[in-house]
Amino acid sequence: MTDNVRVRFAPSPTGPLHIGGLRTALFNYLFAKKHNGTFILRIEDTDQNRYVEGAEKYIIDALNWCNIPYDEGPNHNEKFGPYRQSERKHLYQDYADQLIASGNAYYAFDTADSLDHQRKELEAEGKTFIYNWHNRQLLLNSLSLSKEETQAKLDAGDEYVIRFKSPENQTLNLTDIVRGNITIDTNILDDKVLFKSDGMPTYHLANIVDDHLMEITHVIRGEEWLPSLALHYQLYDAFGWDKPQFAHLPLLLKPTGKGKLSKRDGDKLGFPVFPLEWQDPETNDISSGYREAGYFPDALVNFLAFLGWNPGTEQELFTLEELVEAFDLERVHKSGARFDPDKIKWFNHQYMQMQYDDDLAEVFKDAQPELADIDVNYVAMAVGMIKERATFISDFWALSSFFFEAPKTYDEKSFTKIVTNEARELMSELAQVINHTDDFTVENVQTDVKAWIAKKEVGFGKVMQPLRLALVGAMQGPDVFEIIYMIGKAETVQRIGNLSQAL
Ligand code: GLU
Repeated sequence: MTDNVRVRFAPSPTGPLHIGGLRTALFNYLFAKKHNGTFILRIEDTDQNRYVEGAEKYIIDALNWCNIPYDEGPNHNEKFGPYRQSERKHLYQDYADQLIASGNAYYAFDTADSLDHQRKELEAEGKTFIYNWHNRQLLLNSLSLSKEETQAKLDAGDEYVIRFKSPENQTLNLTDIVRGNITIDTNILDDKVLFKSDGMPTYHLANIVDDHLMEITHVIRGEEWLPSLALHYQLYDAFGWDKPQFAHLPLLLKPTGKGKLSKRDGDKLGFPVFPLEWQDPETNDISSGYREAGYFPDALVNFLAFLGWNPGTEQELFTLEELVEAFDLERVHKSGARFDPDKIKWFNHQYMQMQYDDDLAEVFKDAQPELADIDVNYVAMAVGMIKERATFISDFWALSSFFFEAPKTYDEKSFTKIVTNEARELMSELAQVINHTDDFTVENVQTDVKAWIAKKEVGFGKVMQPLRLALVGAMQGPDVFEIIYMIGKAETVQRIGNLSQAL
């Protein structure tokens, strides 16, 4: 594989980073690290109309939260900087001029109104308007006008755009690491705008110039950019530059598998489509984020890695280092990757099990006011007993509150079934047995209670069911003797008494 791999993630700061964008960033990161290369963040903000305040910060925060930092980027290791295209504005004009000089591009003076008019006329006939070799001689540009007429217009300060002169009757052979060879007939291509008279390049020109100047070796981006590949190839050729290799990542599909997952789907379908929560600066609308919903960043990263890639083995759980090791663009598939929100929950559950109880306890304690005065080691022990049933830290309280406070109510159905007169009598005797257990360990309590049950010759369930209900308030939770040990003798006896007295 090529030495000195340099890849870039090149988002436009037009809003929060969508989960698909994050997947693109991740694949770039994995590829760079796998080859000891450089992962670059470039902010493509040439379209000032679509610029959204806070979006760049959001992108950077999201990469940091996911633990996939960039090696070069805005205000960081600016070897090839600046890394914001708006700050590179002065560079692009020369390149546009070069293309004009070499005959690969031309000035076009058509007004938006006149193009719109022609577009509508054709649409009325059921045709689509396309600006290229077949009609450019009939339109208002430096190919149809004389040199002098063109110069006069430029001197007069008429508005113009610079268009790429796409050739007629040529076949382009494109290569993509994911899709293989693609053949394109240039006759279907339009003469894309590369530069505008406001001094701003369009995406295509700025992107190619920057990829070249930043010495990008591999362009890894979403499939929506595949239609631009033919133009990008031609631009490299027109400049006489070596091309990077390209890899277009498959689309992310809705959970149904039908249609592209869009920014609007998320909260509508009940799951976030953004890594972090985002508040729209104009409407103040809030879109939910994976971080705020209680997902662990490494779970999200592991999940995203599988959207369009697989390691070719059964292994699903990968640390970031293992992903770097296993990742390979050759194993990225062409077909769309279905976004399955249940699968990311599964990953979160798995990552929860791998975390230290102490760390989880800290977060849990901070989030739950009832735990303010409780020893963190005790919280950690409780967490250790219930986390296998939890997907999020926010599930903890419902699963563990009985470790910290006596049940306030009892599950009605269980209560009616279990709390008979016989049960009440058994419970008051049981309270005595437990009260008399010296050296209060899980084993000692268990031995004493079991011995007493054997002596009484009652069914195990007849005692254990009301006991569980007394301690937990419902027929759930971890081993009863573990709970007894955790909450202690006095609290156990108290709770047994509470149940017997409840009506
Ligand atoms: N600015 C483009 C975007 O927002 C970058 C596409 C590319 O990677 O070439 O996705």
